[in-house]
Amino acid sequence: MKLEERLGANKYYVDETSPHILVDGAGFSHEEKMKLVNGCPAGLYTLQENGDLAFDFAGCLECGTCRVLCGETIVKTWKYPRNAKGVEFRQG
Ligand code: SF4
Repeated sequence: MKLEERLGANKYYVDETSPHILVDGAGFSHEEKMKLVNGCPAGLYTLQENGDLAFDFAGCLECGTCRVLCGETIVKTWKYPRNAKGVEFRQG
């Protein structure tokens, strides 16, 4: 089974009212942003044509990689989703 199929099998209970990760890439280098683009296993960080960093927390796997990579720079807030929200793994 391909990675995309495995990720798609998960269920995501998105808390639209309270994002569990907040980021701000303004003022940070291309290299710092690329740590997140390359490091997030779910591919939730993307670099726009104008160099801005885009992020969508809806498919988050709650692995914590982005916090480890940029927890003192771009990632401003990282916490687990509130009770009964977040990812429900379906493929182990
Ligand atoms: S916690 Fe993991 S899956 Fe979620 S945004 Fe960070 S790196 Fe991506």
